[in-house]
Amino acid sequence: MPELPELEVLRRQAQKELVGRTITGVTVNQPKAINLPVDDYTKRTEGQTICAVERKGKYLALILDGGDALVVHLALGGALVLMDTAEHDPPHTPFVFALNDGRYLHAVNWQLGNISIYETSFLRAPDGPFGQLGPDAWDEISSADELRDAIGGSSAGIKARLMNQAVISGIGNAWSDEILFHGRLHPMTKTSALSDKDFDAIYRAIRDIIGAAIKAGGEGFTDLHGERGTAEESFAVHGREGEDCPGDCGGNVEAMKVAGRTGYLCPSCQKKR
Ligand SMILES: [Zn+2]
Repeated sequence: MPELPELEVLRRQAQKELVGRTITGVTVNQPKAINLPVDDYTKRTEGQTICAVERKGKYLALILDGGDALVVHLALGGALVLMDTAEHDPPHTPFVFALNDGRYLHAVNWQLGNISIYETSFLRAPDGPFGQLGPDAWDEISSADELRDAIGGSSAGIKARLMNQAVISGIGNAWSDEILFHGRLHPMTKTSALSDKDFDAIYRAIRDIIGAAIKAGGEGFTDLHGERGTAEESFAVHGREGEDCPGDCGGNVEAMKVAGRTGYLCPSCQKKR
């Protein structure tokens, strides 16, 4: 599932490739992947120029010059890929946006994702798509203190807390496993039990792990140019049940149900407290 690193890869590329481009046409093959009747959606989209690209958590917003924003949520998976052709397979392509530079933005392999249109002024309203989210883990948390203010003092476990998008946004199941292994913290440790040293370790792990993942093009992610990221090659524990712990403790990676998801940890490196 795409998380913060994957969406940040997409944001950086979209910033370069899409800003200044005008949407000249929209083909919608899956009306359930938009939030308006197709006619209204195309009317508000066609002829609009993309003037900025913003990201918060796992959401991307293409800001249009007429006062609306297209908000992209990839949900369980999928990609936006720029191509020179409009040709596509309708059952597997929920949308194609035609651009005035002769290229086409295709939605590829989407799994429950959507692109909704809202007034840009609603984006950060309390119930807007960005407004509902906690601070972005990469752009809006700039110290261990800010991290503690966002996620600390709760009887919920640290992994559940990191994955709660209303508390801190962008981190999901895969990257929370990696962050907690690198911080040597058990996923079920209550955030009210964490010390300043622990918050420092988590903060540094977020910077290191997310930064490296962005550089590697994300995990299991196809970018705007159709290139595949390789960040999953660096996974220490996520999806590696039964393998030797890379921390050289002599233990093995185990799977564990946390907050309804299957997480991974090394129980000897990440002791429950
Ligand atoms: Zn270990």
